[in-house]
Amino acid sequence: MSTADPHCIFCKIVAGQIPARKAYEDDEIIAFHDINPWAPVHILLVPKPHIVSMVEVLPEHQPILGKMMVLVPQLMRELGVTDGYRQVINTGRDGGQEVMHLHMHAMGGPRPWARG
Ligand code: 5GP
Ligand code: ZN
Repeated sequence: MSTADPHCIFCKIVAGQIPARKAYEDDEIIAFHDINPWAPVHILLVPKPHIVSMVEVLPEHQPILGKMMVLVPQLMRELGVTDGYRQVINTGRDGGQEVMHLHMHAMGGPRPWARG
């Protein structure tokens, strides 16, 4: 299993070294509100191990990725999103990934949105 990267901003959030407005946490996953939201509700779901991107995903990551997918409707409901949402995973430079620690965006709330 991957370990933490001391230079990674999301590993620092996982470790509690940088504050974040948390929406969910368990031993494998953390979810927190995006610092620069595109939508009224915009959270990031992050596996705690430092997996760089979907390119680095291994068969052993299947349960954690499945858990992230299943968590989204629950978290959107808890955050008051009632009319649909959008999930995005940016992968690599050409995929628009800026933070090189795998994460899934989940965005919802009434349109218009700032982006997306
Ligand atoms: P990406 O482009 O890599 O898919 O998305 C990275 C996201 O992380 C961006 O939407 C950006 O606003 C968010 N982000 C970057 N740094 C921080 C941070 O320190 N705290 C929080 N809460 N979000 C961050
Ligand atoms: Zn990391």
